[in-house]
Formats: sequence, structure tokens, C-alpha cells
Amino acid sequence: EEIVPETPATDDGKPFGVVISHPDRVIDPDGGITKGQLADYYAAMADPILRWAGGRPISLVRCPQGRGKKCFFQKHDAGSFGDHVGHVAIREKDGSSEDYLVIEDGAGLLACVQMGTIEFHGWGAPVSDVEKPDRLVFDLDPDEGLDFGDVVSAAEHIRDLLGEMGLATFPMLTGGKGVHVIAPLTPDAEWPAVKDFAHRFAAALAEDQPERFTAALAKKRRTGRIFIDYLRNQRGATAVMPYTARARGGAPVAVPVTWAELRKIDRASRWHVGDAKELAKRAGSKALAGWGQADQALPDL
Ligand code: ATP
Ligand code: MN
Ligand code: MN
Repeated sequence: EEIVPETPATDDGKPFGVVISHPDRVIDPDGGITKGQLADYYAAMADPILRWAGGRPISLVRCPQGRGKKCFFQKHDAGSFGDHVGHVAIREKDGSSEDYLVIEDGAGLLACVQMGTIEFHGWGAPVSDVEKPDRLVFDLDPDEGLDFGDVVSAAEHIRDLLGEMGLATFPMLTGGKGVHVIAPLTPDAEWPAVKDFAHRFAAALAEDQPERFTAALAKKRRTGRIFIDYLRNQRGATAVMPYTARARGGAPVAVPVTWAELRKIDRASRWHVGDAKELAKRAGSKALAGWGQADQALPDL
């Protein structure tokens, strides 16, 4: 279902009613972005962010003292984020149960920002049924030295192959080095089947074009190649959510693009936190209206 925040952002320093402390604290020394500016970014982008990150287990990259200091990846929480941030109990491998964070509205989003969150990562399944993924993600990780153009052509190749199997895909710039090729799934198949498909697809690709692709985790196998990180598609794994800011130099943002646009883009960090106005407009544009949406099932492979 679609999640639409009901409360508009305000400019009184309390976006969605959340008090942002230390708004002048610089959280990105490279670009001089402050915590207040980050909160403004998230307030402006709350709608499109919640469309994707709302209602699913999330993990956070928190850097309470800014990106230059200690950052950590947080998966679990028992309640320190306040009333606006929800929880879902999920069974772990060892049979125990852990609480994962869930946000549903702008207040929840901004409560996380107040806690020093820069990045939002999400499971590939909604809280309504965490065992049934609603998306398949191929995370293209280029080796140093490869051009972004190589990543684009690789993404297009994956688009074509998945397209032949009947899967529509959508590209997203990560804000870092690579691109995520995302195939929405109508929840039905469970994690083991989805992971198996992703693994076999990546392995077949690497076997077919070993000079270009690898599906091997070993770093030395990646030299001069693009690592097809299919492991985003296993239970418990996360991927960075659309429109999340990145805790990297210049405060870049993960941005959904069309396939036509991708050809003209020269880097994964094309947009940053300061581009909130443009990004909000883009997110509501006709060209991106159907981004990430398709009613389709996992094919056989
Ligand atoms: P880039 O384009 O630079 O690769 P990315 O977001 O794809 O950006 P990756 O390093 O490929 O970065 O990581 C892929 C995903 O794995 C991340 O989006 C995140 O959800 C997850 N991830 C990254 N770091 C951790 C971590 N320390 N613990 C758990 N999951 C992580
Ligand atoms: Mn990646
Ligand atoms: Mn990766």
C-alpha cells in the first residue's frame, strides 16, 4: 500500500514536529552540510522516501558527530528513537527474535535524522510479510579504475537479460560508485527462491562474460571487473533506499533515474543533499511516475 505523510514539513526548525538539536553541526566536512540542512532535505523528500522506505524493516547509518567521526550501521533497537519510530520483531537464524526499526511517516523519518542518521537502508520485503520480497536488487559494484560508462552499459545489459525473462527493471544511482538495477516483485516467492534466482543470474552473467563481470566475493576476482552483488537478495540483507543521503564526501544522494537518463549521467554521485528542490520536482515528474512499479513474479531460471 502507499504511505503518504499527512503532516507537511514546516520551516520553524521542527520538521514534522521533530526538534532537531545542533542544527548547525557540520555533518559533512567536505560539502559543509549541517545537520539542519540534512533535516530540511529529508523533510522536503519525505513523501518519495516513505513511498519506498516506509513500512519495511530498515537499518540506519548513524554518524551522531558527523561523517568525519565514528559512524555505525544500526539494525536493531528496542525503543530509543521515541514514539514515532515503530518496530517489528523478526526471527533470527538462531531462533531468537530481534526488533527492527520501521518508519511510516515524516515524524518517524525526522526522528531518525535527529538521532544522527544519515543513510536509510531497507529490507527487500515489507513488514506485512517479511518472508516474501517485493523487489530484486542487482548491486553493481565496479572495481576502481572502471568508468561510470562501463557501469551504465553493464546495467543496460542486465536490464535486457531480465527483460527477456519478462522482468521490468529500474535503475538507481547509489550516490556512491555504482548503480542498483531493481526489479519490483509482487510478493509471492520467498527468500530462498529469490536468492537462488539472483545467484544463478549473476553466476551465468559472470560465466558468459568473465572479462567484464564477476559474482565472486573474493576481492582479487574483482580486478578490472564489475562485481554483481546478488547478496542484497538474501533474508536480512539491505539495500540503500531511494533518495537517501549518503555518508560520503559532498553528501551525495541515492537517486532513481530512467533508463534514458542513465545514458547521459557521468557519475553515481550526480545529485546531493543541496539539490532537494530539484529532486522533489523530479520525484513527482511524469518520467519517474512509474519508477519501481511493476506487477510481476519471479521467473524460473
Ligand atoms: P556503492 O555504489 O558505492 O557500492 P552501495 O550502497 O551499493 O553504494 P555497497 O557497499 O555496495 O554500497 O553496499 C550495498 C548495500 O549493502 C548497502 O546499500 C547496504 O544496505 C548494505 N551494507 C553496506 N554496509 C553494510 C554494513 N556494514 N552492514 C550491513 N549491511 C551493509
Ligand atoms: Mn554497491
Ligand atoms: Mn555491494
